[in-house]
Amino acid sequence: MSDRLIQGMAANGDFRILAAQTTTTVETAREILDLSPVAADALGRALTGSVLLARLLDKDVRNQRVTLRFDGNGPLGLLIAEANVSGDARGYVSNPVPEDASIDVPRAIGQGMLTVVRGTPPVGRPYTSQMMLEGGGIAQELTRYLARSEQISSAVLLGVLNRREGVAASGGIIIQAFPHATEESRRIIEERIQSTPPLSTLIEKIPIEAVVAKVFEGLNYKQLDERFNVPVNYRCTCSRERAIAPLALFSPDELKEMVEEGGSEVVCQFCGRKYNFTREDLLALNASPDA
Ligand SMILES: [Zn+2]
Repeated sequence: MSDRLIQGMAANGDFRILAAQTTTTVETAREILDLSPVAADALGRALTGSVLLARLLDKDVRNQRVTLRFDGNGPLGLLIAEANVSGDARGYVSNPVPEDASIDVPRAIGQGMLTVVRGTPPVGRPYTSQMMLEGGGIAQELTRYLARSEQISSAVLLGVLNRREGVAASGGIIIQAFPHATEESRRIIEERIQSTPPLSTLIEKIPIEAVVAKVFEGLNYKQLDERFNVPVNYRCTCSRERAIAPLALFSPDELKEMVEEGGSEVVCQFCGRKYNFTREDLLALNASPDA
């Protein structure tokens, strides 16, 4: 079955549950971006987190997009994951193949800063918040972000499983406690989360619907109708117009140089698509070769 986000409630409506199966999406990212296993693990968790957050933080605005920017001093360098409410996700890792292949995700990202941008393109001012990375892993960083910046009490579970052939399983669950959730139900849910086996090993064997039903077994979990499912895909929103826009920032001299070389190629960092611009395209950017 294809990747999807599902929604539900647990403990008599005390908790909102969002869950996503993202195996194909993350495997696509691995292929496009040539990710090593640890890079696929890190970006897969971040992509899943961005898909879940885009839906969780949806304030009834169309087109909401969430960008997670992990800017750490670890060997992966900058890691970006971005998704919108329609389930389109894309990502980037500046150094996808670190020398030490054995390190875990927190060390591969390192110390630094997490920036979360919520935007509603093409209109509206994006909402940005930043916090220090504490090295506890992507799920823990996102839990802290939700508590601090969004005042949402939540638990975030994320997992990616790499096999020799590639990404065998990827997905995540966000459990949001509503303010009216009782102490007792919070304690029970917390215990359940603690005793849950690694999510990715479950996702490898059974569909996400069954994974969530198993995690919340006996806790009155109800999945919302399938109409509320969101298909999840690795899909880049780049375009020719957006690719040429940064070239307008070059000086007339620099553009002249590109024109003399016969044109310019721009490669999208998220999907690898190549955009070729001819002399005429560059000249149309107000560059005069005689300038
Ligand atoms: Zn692209």
